[in-house]
This record gives sequence, C-alpha cells and structure tokens, in this order.
Amino acid sequence: RQGRLPDEVELPKIRVVVRKRPLNSKESERGEDDAIEADMMESRLVVHEPRVKVDLTKYVEHHAFAFDDVLDERVSNDAVYRSTVQPLVATIFRSGKATCFAYGQTGSGKTYTMQPLPLRAASDIFTYLGYAEHADLSLWVSCFEIYGGKLFDLLNSRQGLVMREDGKGRVCIVGLKEVEVSRAESIRELVAHANKARSTGSTGVNEESSRSHSIMQFALKRGGESDHPVGKISFVDLAGSERGADTYDNNRQTRMEGAQINKSLLALKECIRALDASAQHVPFRGSKLTEVLRDSFTGDQARTVMIANVSPAATSCEHTLNTLRYADRVK
Ligand code: ADP
Ligand code: MG
Repeated sequence: RQGRLPDEVELPKIRVVVRKRPLNSKESERGEDDAIEADMMESRLVVHEPRVKVDLTKYVEHHAFAFDDVLDERVSNDAVYRSTVQPLVATIFRSGKATCFAYGQTGSGKTYTMQPLPLRAASDIFTYLGYAEHADLSLWVSCFEIYGGKLFDLLNSRQGLVMREDGKGRVCIVGLKEVEVSRAESIRELVAHANKARSTGSTGVNEESSRSHSIMQFALKRGGESDHPVGKISFVDLAGSERGADTYDNNRQTRMEGAQINKSLLALKECIRALDASAQHVPFRGSKLTEVLRDSFTGDQARTVMIANVSPAATSCEHTLNTLRYADRVK
C-alpha cells in the first residue's frame, strides 16, 4: 500500500483531441482516397475536400485546423488513453469531475475509441486505490443510455429511469443501478454487458446505437457514504453527429430523434464552452444529456476532454468538416 497520487498539475478545463481512423478494407477496395492529412507533431490537420464547379471541372479545397492534439491512423488505443483520459484520473481523487466525450459521424470510430478507455482508467484507479491514503475509498460503476430524450439503464435490462434534482441542486437518476467493483478486470464484463444492452438493431451494428448517447460513470465513494461521491469520471459515446440532421426525415420517429440529438449536441457545445470562460451561466437545461452531466459542467474541478473522431474517406468530407468545425467551436 505504498505510493502516492501523482503531484497535482494544472490541467486545462477543456482539451480537444482529433483522432483519424484508417481507411477500412471496404473503402480501400473501392478505391477511396484518404482526404485527411494529420500532422501529429504540429497538432494540425488539413482536409483536402474534392469539389466540382458548376462547369463540372474538379478541384480540391483545403481546410486547415489546429487542435490540442491530433492523432493519426497509426495511433493505438493505449496512446489515445495516455493523451486523453489518463491525465484526468488523479483529479477524481481530488474531488474532480472528469468527462471524456467521443464525437463524430457514425462509423468514424467513436465506440472503437471509447470502449477500452474505462478498463484502462480502472487499472490506474485501482493502483491509486491501493495506496494507504485511499483505504476508505471504493469504486462504483453505472451505465445508461439516452435515447429519444429518455434514460435507460444499461446494467439493468434497459430499465427506464427518471432524473431528479435534490434540494441542493444535485442531479440524481432514480433507481440507476450502481455496481461496486473491486478489480479492474470486472470493468471488461460491465462494458461488454452494457454494449449488448445498448439499443443495437439486429445486425445493423451502428444503425440504432448511432441514435443514442451512452454514458458510463465511475464514482469514487468514501466508506459508508452512499450518495455523494468524492469524484467522478464519465465516458460518453455520443450519438452519431450526422443524426442531428435527421430532422427533415420523412419518418416521424426518426425526425423526432434527430431533433433530440441536434438539441443535445448543440446544448453540449454551449455547456463545454461555458466551462472555460468565467461564464456565469451554464445552459445545461438545454437537453437531457447536459442536465444529466450538470455537475460535470460546474465548479472549479470540472475537466473535459473531447475526442473528435473522423473518417479519412474523401466521400465523408462533408461530415468530417462538420465534426471539425464543432470541435473547433468547443476548444
Ligand atoms: P462509431 O461508433 O463512430 O459509429 P465504430 O467505432 O463502430 O464507429 O467504428 C466503425 C468501424 O471502424 C468499426 O469496424 C471499427 O472497428 C473500425 N475502426 C474505427 N476506428 C478504428 C481505428 N482507429 N483503427 C482500426 N479500426 C477502426
Ligand atoms: Mg458506435
């Protein structure tokens, strides 16, 4: 039980990291061009967008962006962890609220990026929990989904849940199942369980899950205290950003879901932006997503990292540019 938490370092309130995935075999087979140039040294990214003039001549428009970090297609999930979540882990032992979002169009790699992060974080958390000074702390895990503006428990048969505010303005989700975890490996099963429970169509892997936000939360709790955690970290796999544009779809259901997603992603952007500036007002009431994450958007101890996932395919340029512009507005 020897060892100490790493020394406290000043972390930025918001970090925005872009991750480019490789072209997949299907895209390579059909001869897709890689339209993204990722410069990790300079943390810059250029999108070479193929365009066509009215007279049908082709040209390429170049769009340059700079972020806190740019990760190219060769970067492993381990390296993603080190550049995004790892620096946040110690803060939750110091009353911090940390949040990691994966943003991007469906198929850009959000779930691929997000899924391994809780396990890696848990491994560091258990190292710190082993230190004598943390002998009275324990780790609790919950996982839920926001679909069509409603909450569903992913660790409890997708049971519907409601959110309530207590007298102190703290948000709680009534009946949300919380599992106490005593070793990092248990996280693997919980992630797999939650992923199965997530609204996924029969085979269309991404079809349904692309319309929901899924949130896994780790809460550090002290001894007998059951309610108010010492610190918290949330892993948020957001709905496909292109779904926010489904608001013009002919199908009523899809259109309503699209409107919800659009609203929540806009509200999220505003809340993250408010984290930074000495903003007096955090517009978390704009959506279920931001209401649920309310305590992660307020106070000096809130830290957020957004991973913007992009596909390299030239045919995805429009969505990629939308993602990068959103990410650019957040930072
Ligand atoms: P999303 O959750 O954004 O819809 P996924 O994470 O499901 O996207 O990724 C789409 C596909 O691309 C999956 O088959 C996934 O395994 C693959 N993929 C995504 N990112 C990477 C990566 N960095 N390296 C290798 N394969 C990836
Ligand atoms: Mg996904």
